[in-house]
Amino acid sequence: MTRSLGGAELATTIRDDASGAAAALADLGIRPRLAVVLATDDESTAWYVRSIAAAAKRTGILCDIVDLGASATTGQIHGTLVELGHDPDVHGIILQTPLPDGTDLDALREAINPAKDIDGANPVSLGRLVARLPAFAPATARAVIALLDHHGISPHGRTAAVVGRSTVVGSPVANLLVQRNATVTVCHRHTTDLAAGTRDADILVVAVGIPGLVTAEHVADGAVVIDVGTTATTDGRLLGDVDAQAVDGRAGALTPVPGGVGPVTTALLIAHTVDAAAAQHAQHAQHAQTRSDSVLAGFRSGV
Ligand code: ADP
Repeated sequence: MTRSLGGAELATTIRDDASGAAAALADLGIRPRLAVVLATDDESTAWYVRSIAAAAKRTGILCDIVDLGASATTGQIHGTLVELGHDPDVHGIILQTPLPDGTDLDALREAINPAKDIDGANPVSLGRLVARLPAFAPATARAVIALLDHHGISPHGRTAAVVGRSTVVGSPVANLLVQRNATVTVCHRHTTDLAAGTRDADILVVAVGIPGLVTAEHVADGAVVIDVGTTATTDGRLLGDVDAQAVDGRAGALTPVPGGVGPVTTALLIAHTVDAAAAQHAQHAQHAQTRSDSVLAGFRSGV
C-alpha cells in the first residue's frame, strides 16, 4: 500500500498560524498585502494564482493580482516590480512565470525588493539560502521539506534524488535536502538515464512539469515520492509528474496532485507575506527609534 502524503492539514495549520500573526499586526494598524505580478494567459498559472488569492482571503491578508497581459514587455514588468518594491503598503511580491517570450527573466528577478521577495526569486535570496543565511526560500522548495517533516519523514542520512534543477524548485530543494543531511543526486533534462539516477533514492522529489514522467522503473521499493508537478489540462484537471497508478504499491508514500505540495506552497506564500510585513514593520520602528534617538542626542548636545 502506498501511503498518501496529503498537504491539506499542514496547509491549514500554516494558514491558522499566519492568521494569528496577521491579527496581531492588524492591532498595530498593519494589513499584510501580497502583490502577484503576472503576464501570461497560461491556464496552469491562472489556476495557481487563483489558489494563492483564495488562501490569502482565508487568512485575512490582502492580495492584489497585477495582470500586465500576455504582451507585456520587460520594461513594463520591471517598472511595476520597482513601484511595488517602493510601495510601503505592499509587503510581499511574487513574479509569476512563465513570462512573455523575449522578456529578461533574470533582470526581472533582480528587480524584486529582497525584503519583499517572499517566493525567493531574487538571486540574492537564493544566494543567502545556499550560504545558510536568513532568507525567504522559494515556497515550493520549503513546502517539500515541510511536508516531509509533517509526515515524520526525516531526510537525515537518507539518499534523495531531485528531478529538475530550476532555480525556483529543483535547485533550492536539493540544497535544503543537503542542509537536512541527505545525500542528494540531481537529475535534469540532460540526464541520459533518469531511472539510474532515481531508482535507489529513499526520497524522490520530482519537479519537471511533464505529466507521468516518473513511473515504477524510476522508484525504489518503499521510496517516499514527492510530486511537485502541476500541469493543468484544458478540461480543468491538474496532473502531476508522477504516474500515480504506475507507482502505486511500489512507492512507500506519494503526495497527491492536487492536494499535496500545492496547498502547502500557497499557505507558505501567505505565511511569508505576514512574516515580511512584521519584519518591515520592525525595521521601520527601529528606524523611527534611531531617528528620535539622534534628535534627542542633538537636543542633549545642544545642536
Ligand atoms: P519548474 O518550475 O517545475 O522547476 P522548469 O520548467 O523551470 O520547471 O524546469 C524544468 C526542469 O525539469 C529543468 O530543470 C529540466 O532540466 C528538467 N527536465 C525537463 N525535462 C526533463 C526530463 N525529461 N528528465 C529529467 N528532467 C527534465
